[in-house]
Amino acid sequence: MLNKIQEWINRTIETYDNDRISCICFEKDFEDYYPSDFLQESYFVVVNKLPKPDFQELRDAGFGGFLDREFEGITYKNTYFITAGYERRISLHFHELVHVMQWKSLGTQQFIARYMQEIKLHGYDNAPLELMAYEYEKRFEQNEDLPNLLNDIEMKI
Ligand SMILES: [Zn+2]
Repeated sequence: MLNKIQEWINRTIETYDNDRISCICFEKDFEDYYPSDFLQESYFVVVNKLPKPDFQELRDAGFGGFLDREFEGITYKNTYFITAGYERRISLHFHELVHVMQWKSLGTQQFIARYMQEIKLHGYDNAPLELMAYEYEKRFEQNEDLPNLLNDIEMKI
């Protein structure tokens, strides 16, 4: 299952290759938070509907609620997707970039396995990887200094 999801993710990122925008465009907004090279190699795509791996096996395993729920954004590896209409919300980009860092830090297989387990155990709203992203998003909104953001994320994982 993990392999199937991983293949789907790689295919999806490839499909949107020409539409991906490098997050270096947020260099000014995020200069106190994310280093330029990290932004340079992170990407976002604005879409009308977020791509999700809608496999019957996932529905059978109890992920139907997650697959059907409408989110503002979703991250796969170094690329996140934003639902059209939300692309100007800078804190949402900040949130998804926390996920990019989580993917990097855990590695693809581990991120998928852990995220699925968390959704199963805690539900999306209380999944620790989500809570972490929401917490940093809030601190960013409050203009808090986060000098070691990437290190902090890595340490908390
Ligand atoms: Zn999130």
